Amino acid sequence: MALPREFPPLSAEQVVGSTCTRLAGLGSEIRRMFLLGEERRRERPGSKLIDLSLGNPDLEPPEAVLKALIEVASEVLPGAHRYMDNAGYPEVRAFIGRSLSHTEGVLLGENNVFLTCGAAGGIQILMRVLLDPGDEVVLFAPYFSEYVPYSVNMGAKPVTVPTDDAHLPHPHALEAALTPSTRLVILNSPNNPSGVVYPRATCEALFEVLRRHRERTGRVVHVLSDEPYANLIFKPSDYVPLLPLYDALWVVRSHSKDLGLAGERIGYLAWGKALEGASTLGALRNAARSMGFVNAPALMQRLLPKVFDARVDTGVYAERVRAFCDILAAGGVSCVRPGGTFFVFPKSPVLDDRAFSQALLEKGVLVVPGSGFGKPGYVRCSLSRPLEEVKEAANIYVLAYKAMQKEADKLF
Ligand code: PLP
Repeated sequence: MALPREFPPLSAEQVVGSTCTRLAGLGSEIRRMFLLGEERRRERPGSKLIDLSLGNPDLEPPEAVLKALIEVASEVLPGAHRYMDNAGYPEVRAFIGRSLSHTEGVLLGENNVFLTCGAAGGIQILMRVLLDPGDEVVLFAPYFSEYVPYSVNMGAKPVTVPTDDAHLPHPHALEAALTPSTRLVILNSPNNPSGVVYPRATCEALFEVLRRHRERTGRVVHVLSDEPYANLIFKPSDYVPLLPLYDALWVVRSHSKDLGLAGERIGYLAWGKALEGASTLGALRNAARSMGFVNAPALMQRLLPKVFDARVDTGVYAERVRAFCDILAAGGVSCVRPGGTFFVFPKSPVLDDRAFSQALLEKGVLVVPGSGFGKPGYVRCSLSRPLEEVKEAANIYVLAYKAMQKEADKLF
C-alpha cells in the first residue's frame, strides 16, 4: 500500500486572511493575559496562580437542569433531531414569549422570540439584520470586548462613549456621539466587566436622547439590551425591564451564566410589538441561515421550558463579590460595588493598567486590564474561583496596589 502523502506545511499568511488577522487583534486583552498566565505556569511550575482572567462561570448547572437534560435526551420523538424553522420550535418560542410577558411588562408571543446559539449568536444575527457597512455602533465603556470584532464583522464602526466614575452612561455623552451614521446602541446591564446594574433613570434618559435624535433627523437608532446576566442580579428588584421604555429595542438573553451552560450555546432574542412587522422574523431567519448558525441546538431548545425558572446559586457569586470588595475597601482601593454578575472592576493605582496587571501576575493573580474593555485605569477580576482564593487574591491586590502607588508617588 502506498504511504500517505505528506504535504509541507503552509505559512500563516497562506492560510489566514488579513481580515481574520485584524479581527484577532481586536479586543484581544483577555487572550493576551491568558497567554501570559500560561507562560508563567510553564516558567514556574508548582507556583500558585489565582486565575481571575476568564469569564467562564465555575458553578455547575443546577441539579434540576441536569435531570431535565437526561429527560429530554431520552425522549423518543420523531424528527426531534432534524432541521427545523431557523427561529426555533414555535412552542418553545411561545413559552418564552408568555414567560417574558410576566417579567418584562409587555405582551409577547411566538412571533417576538428567536432562539439563538447563546447571546453571542443572537448579537451577530441581529447585527447582520440591522447593520450596513459604515454604520456606527455605540458602546459605553467599559464594554464587553467582543462587541468590537462583532461590529467590525459587519463592516460597521464601533464608537466608544465614556461613562462616569460609577461606570454609568450619561445622556449628554450619548448625544455628543450620535451622528447620521449611528444605527445601534448597545446597553449591557448587569455589565461585563463592571458588574454594575444600570438604574431605570439612566436608561430612560438615554432613550429620551434617542427619541429627540429621531424627531430631529428622522433616523431610528436601535438599542440592543444584552442581558446574559439578568438572572445574576443580587437584588432581583434592581432589574429594569427595558422593552416598555423604547420601541426599537431588542433584548438578548442566554443561559450561559445563570444555568452554567456556556458550552451548550442556548439563548434568544426578544422584541416588542413595534418591531413585530412581517419581515422581522424573516430577516432574522435569513441572517441565521446566511451566517451558518442555522438554528439553536434542538436539545437545548426543548430543555428551556423545563428549566426556565432554575438558576445557579447567585448567593455564591454575591458572597465572593462582597468579600472581595470588602477587602479592597478596607485596603483603601476604590471599587464600585457590583449589583450582579461575578465581575469586579476596581481601580488600578496607575493609568497604565497593563503595568499593574503585570505586577499582579508577578504576585500570582491573573486579571485583565481595563484597556481591553475600553476603560484604562481599571482591571477586571472575574471571581469564578472559590471564596478562599477570592479573598487571597483581594489581599494580594491591596498589597500590589499600595506598592505601585508608593512607586508612582515617588516619581511625582
Ligand atoms: N454578552 C456579554 C456581556 C457577555 O459577557 C457574554 C459572555 O461572556 C456574552 C454576551 C456571550 O454570551 P454567550 O455565551 O451566551 O454567547
